[in-house]
Amino acid sequence: MNMSNQRRFYIDGEWVDPVEPGDLEVINPATEKPVATISLGSAADINLAVDAARRAFESYATTTPADRLDLLQNILTIYKRRYDEMAELISLELGAPISMSQRSQAACGTGHLEGFLAAFEKLELRQQLENGDTLIREPVGVCGLITPWNWPVNQIALKVLPALAVGCTSVLKPSELTPLSAILYAEILHEAGVPQGVFNLVNGEGPIAGAALSRHPDVNMMSFTGSTRAGVAVTRDAAETVKKVTLELGGKSPNILFADADVEKAVKRGVFGVFYNSGQSCNAPTRMLVERSIYQNVLQIAKKTGESQQIGDPAEPGRHIGPVVSELQFDRIQSLINAGVDEGATVLVGGPGKPNGFDTGYYVRPTIFYDVNNDMRIAREEIFGPVLSIIPFENEDEAISIANDTPYGLAAYLETGDDEKAERVAGKLRAGQVYINGTECAYGSPFGGYKTSGLGREGGLFGLEDFLEIKAVSRP
Ligand code: NDP
Repeated sequence: MNMSNQRRFYIDGEWVDPVEPGDLEVINPATEKPVATISLGSAADINLAVDAARRAFESYATTTPADRLDLLQNILTIYKRRYDEMAELISLELGAPISMSQRSQAACGTGHLEGFLAAFEKLELRQQLENGDTLIREPVGVCGLITPWNWPVNQIALKVLPALAVGCTSVLKPSELTPLSAILYAEILHEAGVPQGVFNLVNGEGPIAGAALSRHPDVNMMSFTGSTRAGVAVTRDAAETVKKVTLELGGKSPNILFADADVEKAVKRGVFGVFYNSGQSCNAPTRMLVERSIYQNVLQIAKKTGESQQIGDPAEPGRHIGPVVSELQFDRIQSLINAGVDEGATVLVGGPGKPNGFDTGYYVRPTIFYDVNNDMRIAREEIFGPVLSIIPFENEDEAISIANDTPYGLAAYLETGDDEKAERVAGKLRAGQVYINGTECAYGSPFGGYKTSGLGREGGLFGLEDFLEIKAVSRP
């Protein structure tokens, strides 16, 4: 990353100073020390970026799909060249361990690109309807993109790439906690030849820069990922000018372990699945629902597994987990761990406070609660830290009922050796993705939630369609 770009925004194909200076230090969560200084944008910066995107839309919307495919291919080439740099920045600003950042965080940038390239070839922009009319799909226009810090490039790729692919122009406001990966991403797009004004980047805070984007009359669509609270704020702000809004929000995903599962494997992947990325994943399997007949066995395996989780410096290679992203997140997680204790859940592993030997850095003790009741706060609220709640159930109906008894509906996991049961239960879970026996949905599959987990889908063909308007044309 070019250091001189840190305090600047990328608007109309150039790196420009903010209208009014407003410095913010980017903190390395492992050392609590600043690693960069960025600028916080205001409504004036957002206005400039939206104006550039609006001007660029006129010509970019008329480019051919083949032109845009070439552009995506160029981005892929340059992203691959700057891959290690991306992994290092994500590790620095988020605290993601470098091995994991290399293997997973940065890999989302290439994975989603390949997913969209494959989907784009299948997208029918013009179709003859059976009634004789023609259906035409057109880019929705100028898009406001707001992304969080937990999987920074994943979220940026899921929004910027489909917008570019279908002919939209955009303004990105990433989380100010992880702005460095976004700055590098903008440099990659510039180098790949994205035309002037087609993509713009303004750093800033949600309630100021984010709200200005959501309210802007020249923005046609908002695509947001983050907390349900902020998603509601974006929706309200966008309502006045009747924008299309897509939302990818929180989750409290159930992980149902039936007695006929491969119990040892199921518990291990369930526990490590919650601790991965220090628990900062919206689709983490945070409620483990366990059939009563295997409950004691599961607790034993969970204890051993939880205690084996290593914690370490994100700069060091290895399979450890790092800190959480900020002091604010650390405090939120601590207050929920304390709520679990106060409400009567039993600590199996971990608990409040910092792990031994980690006084500096926002490190959280990997924690497992058991005898959790689904009404407790630790079963209802998104904790966004390495905290697992184990809840027993008596039979299949009760498992489904507890699984669906949540305001969220992003993902659901189930573990069973019975294929028919897997099919039957998957069909009854109110969630946007269901993962059976440790499988993951591939790049290109739709990702998004039911209920308060969101609106719309990201990734692949469905993710492209969200950035399109539909026009019906009739002829005599
Ligand atoms: P937020 O939802 O506040 O942040 C996500 C993004 O939204 C950021 O870019 C943020 O900017 C922006 N934002 C915040 N408020 C507004 C607003 N009024 N208008 C427009 N944009 C806005 O998440 P937090 O960082 O506060 O984390 C809180 C909790 O949210 C976590 O504990 C977790 O439970 C959940 N979360 C869920 C995520 C998911 O992927 N589902 C991702 C991140 C968090 P800014 O950073 O300046 O506030």
